[in-house]
Amino acid sequence: MSERVIAVIGVGPRGLSVLERLLVRLRDTPHRDGDEVTIWAFDAVGHGGGRVWRVDQPSWLSANTTAGESTMRSPGNDGLPAHRYGTMARWAGLEPGAYPARRLYGQYLADVFRALCATAPPHVRVRPVRAEVTGLTRVPGGLRLVAGGRAYRVDKAVLTTGHGSVEPDEEQLSWLRHADEHGLRYVPPGLAAEMPLDDLPPGPRWRCAASG
Ligand SMILES: Cc1cc2nc3c(=O)[nH]c(=O)nc-3n(C[C@H](O)[C@H](O)[C@H](O)COP(=O)(O)OP(=O)(O)OC[C@H]3O[C@@H](n4cnc5c(N)ncnc54)[C@H](O)[C@@H]3O)c2cc1C
Repeated sequence: MSERVIAVIGVGPRGLSVLERLLVRLRDTPHRDGDEVTIWAFDAVGHGGGRVWRVDQPSWLSANTTAGESTMRSPGNDGLPAHRYGTMARWAGLEPGAYPARRLYGQYLADVFRALCATAPPHVRVRPVRAEVTGLTRVPGGLRLVAGGRAYRVDKAVLTTGHGSVEPDEEQLSWLRHADEHGLRYVPPGLAAEMPLDDLPPGPRWRCAASG
């Protein structure tokens, strides 16, 4: 009899794929009576869509990938039936060539997360925690993780934290200085859903130097 504890830190698309594979492997791997596996799933924004595909972003922000190209299901995963989860297009009833709203893709990912939790093998528990992981250190026999003001003891941790926020680089700093000096506003590159776009009034003074 054993108890294994795994942490997945960041449950956007990558963390979701890790979780999906883990659950398929655990389902197919023989285990003894009494063996238990706990998977703590941490995300600071929301499980499945996470930060990039957050479900509370405006509906007019679109993905640049088509609905028919996007899937979270790997072949042979009966927990995610192909007729429902095979592609995002199938799940949402969209044409395969349609470019979905970003938040709709986030809803697909969140639904996949729920379906994975619900169909985990009986000896496996997935425990979602909506909090930022702020500490991860080695301790004898495992790892100590801190999130939401609580400490967790885990055997293994998977880091699937995606794109991090970075400090402005030299070029961006020079744009910020330029904007300050000329009474302009510079919005550095990032996630459109997190940019203060409502602060920008309409008019010809605004130029977009967006990248990506
Ligand atoms: C601005 C932007 C636009 C994009 N547009 C598209 C697109 O249109 N189509 C496309 O196919 N791809 C797009 N991508 C690529 C995108 O990175 C991938 O589609 C996908 O989201 C990557 O998945 P991920 O899980 O690796 O990272 P993410 O989606 O970034 O997920 C990582 C997750 O980890 C969580 N996290 C991070 N740190 C912590 C922590 N310390 N504690 C707890 N949780 C944490 C975050 O909340 C986040 O939910 C875009 C990326 C960016 C940055």
